Amino acid sequence: MNMPKVPTEVSFRESVDLMFRRATALMDLSPGLEEKIRVCNSTYTVRFGVRLRGKIETFTGYRSVHSEHMEPVKGGIRYSLGVSQDEVEALAALMTYKCALVETPFGGSKGGLCIDPREWDDHELEQITRRFAYELIKRDLINPAQNVPAPDMGTGEREMAWIADQYARMNTTDINAKACVTGKPPHAGGIQGRVEATGRGVQYALREFFQHKEDVAAAKLSGKLEGKRAVVQGLGNVGYHAAKFLSEEDGVKIIAVAERDGAVVNEAGLPIEELRQWMNRNGGLVKGFPNGAYVADGAKVLEMDCDMLIPAALEGVINKGNAARIKAPLIVEAANGPVTYGADEILRGKGTVIIPDMYANAGGVTVSYFEWVKNLSHIRFGRMQRRAEEGRSRILVEELERLSADKGLGWTLAQDFKEKFLQGSDELALVRSGLDDTMRTAYQSMREVWHGRPEVGDLRVAAYIVAISRVAATYRSKGL
Ligand code: NAD
Repeated sequence: MNMPKVPTEVSFRESVDLMFRRATALMDLSPGLEEKIRVCNSTYTVRFGVRLRGKIETFTGYRSVHSEHMEPVKGGIRYSLGVSQDEVEALAALMTYKCALVETPFGGSKGGLCIDPREWDDHELEQITRRFAYELIKRDLINPAQNVPAPDMGTGEREMAWIADQYARMNTTDINAKACVTGKPPHAGGIQGRVEATGRGVQYALREFFQHKEDVAAAKLSGKLEGKRAVVQGLGNVGYHAAKFLSEEDGVKIIAVAERDGAVVNEAGLPIEELRQWMNRNGGLVKGFPNGAYVADGAKVLEMDCDMLIPAALEGVINKGNAARIKAPLIVEAANGPVTYGADEILRGKGTVIIPDMYANAGGVTVSYFEWVKNLSHIRFGRMQRRAEEGRSRILVEELERLSADKGLGWTLAQDFKEKFLQGSDELALVRSGLDDTMRTAYQSMREVWHGRPEVGDLRVAAYIVAISRVAATYRSKGL
């Protein structure tokens, strides 16, 4: 299911290491510090049994801590049969670099459980999740000050709520218990906008990219984001939200969606919400969707002629086996590690521009950071200032209207302007604003290195350089 797809391909972790080394070759780090940053600090493997359906089932799980230069460490928990030590270590390393790039004050971590969640019912999954969480909590591998998981493939709000509750049961006097995990539903201490955050971040990343003519031209594209044709792989949390927002708000045409049972294609643009509803009613399958042509070999649509390809499912899907046939001039890595090191070399050779995973999908960890801060401050964002803000705006509007009446100017403020202007920011508006700012700022920092140093040929190396420099600075300030 996961890498390697072709015999000569390196593993996911080795792929991340090679990408790291491409960047450090252009940096002035001492070999000792470089090695310290690259290696994964620890990986805990747990095998635990749960009595289910009349017998004991044994599950294998991991929690890997890549770097503790900042604590807590942060990274999702994945439920998939493809989970392995190599995979969680690669993903934990990416978390370190991602957090540094978007300036969330965390080290990198990742967890995984070898399980196909579709094989178990809700109650069974709760038992399994609580038991896995118990194993991690008792070793401080889930803890608000040390290690804070989040959702990833195969997990979501529901699993995070179970984990938070399990932690609270085991730490009854910890006033910050809710901050032990992010991605919780709002009623269980979560934050508005977390579910959509990673897809929303992909949208903001693309909006920012299209602000820069030079960058768009580097991808042999021109004009605006509007009207661009995109192929998306995976219509789960990340892919669905990215495709929905890009098509409904930015005029992007999603001409194909690849899912686990095949793909649907519609050159006029797929109605994403309808497709997702179809999948919800049909066991997650796209086959039979009436508004698109079905293609049994889903991977083939990655090779379609399009303006951008958005892989949002698994790692290693663009590999040495298909890279040469990928026609998209722009790849947006919504998933973690969708392009292998070998494929990256082929694509760079062809001039394909890749917006790298550590940036493109950083929206999730960014909003997780906001959720963690909310949990520690025990107050919803906007609660103190929203009405004060509205009050100040109202004074201004009333004064303008009074002046207009006094001087006989006949000015009237348009009703929709007044409504927008008078509305103070609620939590969702603040979260989106913070995410937008983060994505723009991080893009600028990558871009400066990409364009500022001729030897840095692409955005991925630029992203690694920015991230590694920041991690190195933290280590140096600790005296290493
Ligand atoms: P998800 O489980 O919600 O969705 C994954 C989707 O991919 C599902 O719809 C699944 O059916 C589909 N899929 C599985 N195998 C496939 C195949 N072979 N071909 C096509 N589609 C396939 O997972 P997610 O949370 O959306 O995560 C997707 C990727 O994004 C992962 O790489 C994950 O690490 C990354 N990511 C997720 C988050 C987050 O907040 N959830 C944050 C950052 C990065």
